[in-house]
Amino acid sequence: MRVAVRVTGVVQGVGFRPFVHQLARRFGVCGFVGNDVHGVFVEAEGTPAQVEAFVGALQTEVPPLAVVGHVDVREIPPVGDAGFVIVASPVGGVADTLISADSATCDDCLRELRDPADRRFRYPFVNCTNCGPRFTIVRGVPYDRPLTTMAGFAMCGECKREYEDPGDRRFHAQPVCCPACGPTLRFEPGGGEPIQATVAALREGKIVAIKGLGGYHLAVGARHEEAAKSLRTRKHREDKPFAVMVADLRQARELAEVSEAAEEALSSRRRPIVLLPKKIDLADAVAPGNRRIGLMLPYTPVHHLLLEHTGPIVLTSANVSDEPIVHRDEDLGRLKDIADAHLTHDRPIHVRTDDSVVRIVGTKPQLQRRSRGYAPEPVTLPRPARQHLLGCGAELKNTFCLAKGRHAFVSHHIGDLENYETLKAFTEGIEHFKHLFDVDPVLVAHDLHPEYLSTKYALDLDVDLLGVQHHHAHIAACLADNDHQDPVLGVAFDGTGFGPDGTVWGGEFLLADLTGYRRLSHLKAVRMPGGVMAIKQPWRMAASYVDELGRPAREDIVKLKRSGLNSPLTSSAGRLFDAAAAVLGVRDTITYEGQAAIELEQLADPTETTAYRARIDDVVHGEDLIAALLDDPSTAEKRAARFHNGVADAIARTCDRLRDHSDTVALSGGVFQNVLLLDRTVDALEQDGFRVLTHRNVPTNDGGISFGQVAVASRTTR
Ligand code: ZN
Ligand code: ZN
Ligand code: FE
Repeated sequence: MRVAVRVTGVVQGVGFRPFVHQLARRFGVCGFVGNDVHGVFVEAEGTPAQVEAFVGALQTEVPPLAVVGHVDVREIPPVGDAGFVIVASPVGGVADTLISADSATCDDCLRELRDPADRRFRYPFVNCTNCGPRFTIVRGVPYDRPLTTMAGFAMCGECKREYEDPGDRRFHAQPVCCPACGPTLRFEPGGGEPIQATVAALREGKIVAIKGLGGYHLAVGARHEEAAKSLRTRKHREDKPFAVMVADLRQARELAEVSEAAEEALSSRRRPIVLLPKKIDLADAVAPGNRRIGLMLPYTPVHHLLLEHTGPIVLTSANVSDEPIVHRDEDLGRLKDIADAHLTHDRPIHVRTDDSVVRIVGTKPQLQRRSRGYAPEPVTLPRPARQHLLGCGAELKNTFCLAKGRHAFVSHHIGDLENYETLKAFTEGIEHFKHLFDVDPVLVAHDLHPEYLSTKYALDLDVDLLGVQHHHAHIAACLADNDHQDPVLGVAFDGTGFGPDGTVWGGEFLLADLTGYRRLSHLKAVRMPGGVMAIKQPWRMAASYVDELGRPAREDIVKLKRSGLNSPLTSSAGRLFDAAAAVLGVRDTITYEGQAAIELEQLADPTETTAYRARIDDVVHGEDLIAALLDDPSTAEKRAARFHNGVADAIARTCDRLRDHSDTVALSGGVFQNVLLLDRTVDALEQDGFRVLTHRNVPTNDGGISFGQVAVASRTTR
C-alpha cells in the first residue's frame, strides 16, 4: 500500500522532515518527504498496517514548534522504492507556507548550555529545530538561511554536519551555529567577558541596554531602588509598571501568587509577560501603587546566563517615550541618554517585536498584547475570506492584519500611531507581511475615524475600501475569536471610538454579527470638556458628570461644557470610569492610557458584593452611579467596588431588557481589561442565563481591532 500525504500549517523550519524520517524508520515504511511552497509532502509505502500506523503517528506526534493545519491523505499505486529519503525542495512557485513564531530555548539546548563537555557550553546563541529565533530573523521566503539574518554566518564543518543529518536535532535548523561559526556577544563600554561585565554593571546599579530576540530591553536590578528610579526618570515613564524577569518558577512564586494557569503561561515556549498578584515588593519604582506585577521567565540563552547571577531584573522595552522599541544596532545612539552600557551581539534583528502580555481570567490565559512568541502565527477566521484582505487597525496599540482563506495574520504589536517612527513600522510591517505570506489585499478595512493615521493610510490606497465602525470591529473580533457567527448582543465598553452620529462612542450595546450591527442602547452621553484633554485629565470628566447631576461643579468646566466648544458628547465607558476615579480622589491626571481605571480597579474591595444601581430606559444612566458614589459615606475601597458592581449590574439588566434579540452576549473593548469588572459582568450575565463570549486569542483592547476589521471584511459581499 502506498499513500501520498500533504501537510500544511507551520511545518517548515520546525523539524518536520526529520520527524517524518524518524517515523518512517520506526514503522519500516519506504518513500520520501520534502518541503515545497505549500508545506510538506510525503509518500509512504509498506504493508497496510505499517502505513496506517505511520499516518496515524504523523498526525498525533508532531514536533513541538509545528502547528499542523490540514493533513490530506490519498492512496496511490505502489512503486516499490527502497528506503526512505528526504528530497530536495523544488525551486520556485508561490509561497504558501507559514513562519513560526520565536520560541524560548528548549530543555535540550539548556542542557548543552550547562554541560562543560558540550561544544556549546555557555554559548549564548545555542538553538535547534525546536527553539530559537524565527520570525524576528526572517527577511523573506522560502525560510532558508540565506533569507534570514544568519546569512552572514557561514556554518563550520561540525554545524554543517548536524544541519545535514536527518537524524540530528539540528537538521535544517536555519539559525544553527556554535562558538566557532556563530554570532558573538559584546559588552560596551570597556569590553571584558560580556556576561560577567553585565552582571557587574547591574549590581552597581547601572542601566544596561540588552539586545534580545525582538529588540533591545533596558535592564536594571529589580531590587536596586536608585537604578529603577533613574530608569523611570531617564525614560520619561512616570508610573506605568515595569516587567520583571525572574530566573525560574521558584523565584516567580517568591514575588507573586502563581496559579496553575499562570505557571503554564509563564513556562510556555511563547514566554509572555504574565500579570500576577504581587506578594512582596521589589524596588518601589518597579510597579508603583500597583497590586500586580508582570513577570516573565528567560527565553534566550543570554537571559539564562545572566539570570544565573543577577536575581530578578527589570526588563522594559528600550525606547524613547512613545517611540517603537529600538532593534537595530545603528539606532543604539537613540538610547545614549538612557543606558549606561550595552550588551549587544552581531546577529541582526529584522522585525522588532515587543514582549507579549497575558493575564489570567479565572483559570484561563487571555492575551493583552499579542506579539513576540505569537506573531506571525495566523488566527483562524470562521469562514474563508473570498479575497485577500487587510485590516489597518486603530490608532492606539495598533496592529494590522492580513488575511487569505481562513488565515488571519495579525501583526506583532506596532504601538501608538502617533509619530513618524511608529508609522514607518506600520507601513514597512504591512509590506513585509504581504511578501512573507503572499497576500495582495484587494479589500482594505479601516476605522471610521478620519484622523487615525491607519485610516489615512487606507484612504491613500488604490483598492476597494471598507469602513468598519470601531465598536463593531471590537465585537466582530470577539465573535471571530470564538468562531461564533450568529447575531449577539455585543457589549463594547471602551475608551473612545468614532460614532457615525457625530458623538464619541464607547459604552455600546449592539446587535451584531460579522456582517453588520445595529445600536440598541448605550451609556447616556455626557460632554467631554476640552476633548482629548478630558482623556488625560479625568477630573474634567468628574466635573462634567457632577454638572450633569445638577450639582455644583468647577465653573470653568461648566462654562466650557455649556458652550459646547471642544466638548463633544461621549457615551464612553472609559470616561465614566475616569470620572469615578477622580471623584474618589484616585487620580486627577494620568500619565498612561487607562491609568485611572486601572488604579480604581486596584482600590476596589474584591469581597464587596453590593452594587450601586443605575436607571435603565432607552439609555443606561451612568450618571446615577456617580451620584451614588458621591453620596456613599463608606470607605473608598467599598465605594470603588460598589461602582464596579453597579456597572456589571447595569450591563446585565440592559442585556436582559434586550434579550429578545439574542441570548448570547459578546464582551469586548479596552474597559474589559479590568478583570474585576469582567468577572462581575460574566457572573451577572451567566446568572441571568446568558451565554457569554470573551476574548481568547486576540486582545480585548485596540490590539484586536485589525482582526475584527478583517473578520467583517471576510463576510462582505463586495
Ligand atoms: Zn533547542
Ligand atoms: Zn559551528
Ligand atoms: Fe477601542
